[in-house]
Amino acid sequence: MLIDNFNRKIDYLRLSVTDRCNLRCFYCMPKKGIKLINRGELLTFEEIKRVVKIFTELGIKKVRITGGEPLIRENVLALIKSITEIKGIEDISLTTNGVLLNKYLMQLYDLGVKRINISLDSLNPHKYRMITGGGDMKQVMSSISNAIKIGINPVKINTVLTNFLDEDDISQFIKFSIEKPVSIRFIEMMPTIVLDDIECGRIRTTGNGAIITISKILSIMKKIGSYCKMEESIGYGPAFYYKLAGSEGSVGFIINNKDYCRYCNRIRLTPKGTVRLCLFSDDEFNIKAKIRSGVSDSIIKRELIKFVKTKPESRIHCAKLNNRNSTKIPDYMNQIGG
Ligand code: SAM
Ligand code: SF4
Repeated sequence: MLIDNFNRKIDYLRLSVTDRCNLRCFYCMPKKGIKLINRGELLTFEEIKRVVKIFTELGIKKVRITGGEPLIRENVLALIKSITEIKGIEDISLTTNGVLLNKYLMQLYDLGVKRINISLDSLNPHKYRMITGGGDMKQVMSSISNAIKIGINPVKINTVLTNFLDEDDISQFIKFSIEKPVSIRFIEMMPTIVLDDIECGRIRTTGNGAIITISKILSIMKKIGSYCKMEESIGYGPAFYYKLAGSEGSVGFIINNKDYCRYCNRIRLTPKGTVRLCLFSDDEFNIKAKIRSGVSDSIIKRELIKFVKTKPESRIHCAKLNNRNSTKIPDYMNQIGG
């Protein structure tokens, strides 16, 4: 069992299978400064399977495949299949930018991937292109409709609140959630190190780059219709949701709030084979080094159990949020796995 010093049971693994991406969202993979991991440094499929098996033997039950863009890793479906076959995995889900999703949708569904998060930061094709460094929104929209059609449930739309979004954009997203059975999740931008240095056209962000606040979004919702807070959570994450009267879907928020850390049940495996206990933490456990130097599973398990005890109580206890210069580890979201 993986239980930390604050009695949190860790049963959810976010598995980042690549740091590469077919888009360049400015807040995640800015044009300058990104260093991609050498291919030889990436965990191989065999290594990933071994690590996931070790984790399941320690109580991990849910795995979310992410990246970078997971669907660009060669033969990713074979990897996902082999993960679904590991004893103890009860839930496997995916986070994707949706560009290639159409191509793999049916196979993913057949493999049991029934919960998919799709990133879409604007419903305006021009803004979408600017935010993503050239992405074509049509591909993502088509993936979303087909995902709904074949019965992916829930389909969650991840929308990072950047200063590209104005009130009209937010209204469009809210109306989208009325018409379609999707959960729109507005995500407050996480203060990763690179954000301070981003310059992207007219955008210069510092810290939380959003100009649209959560209360603003709620006031826009109010103008559109009556809504209520949903009691039950959708999935396992730190989001909270609202539903507008008569709507097919819902609107949720993922805020950068330390209070959610109390319920954190996750651990992350980065594409280069390190284990992270928090998005903001400096410490990593190099599980790849252990595997490649021939350490046995039972020793690795013992060390992981010990490592998990060092999970920070909350994000505010992480050096990165207190002293940004202290970091030894690159903090680009594509390298950690969002
Ligand atoms: N490429 C896939 C995608 O875009 O969905 C999966 C990886 S991406 C890193 C996962 C999620 O992290 C996306 O929804 C993305 O918008 C979000 N993300 C990336 N950088 C972020 C940041 N600084 N703050 C908040 N969310 C961020
Ligand atoms: Fe790629 Fe996802 Fe990062 Fe955008 S958020 S650059 S799609 S990994």
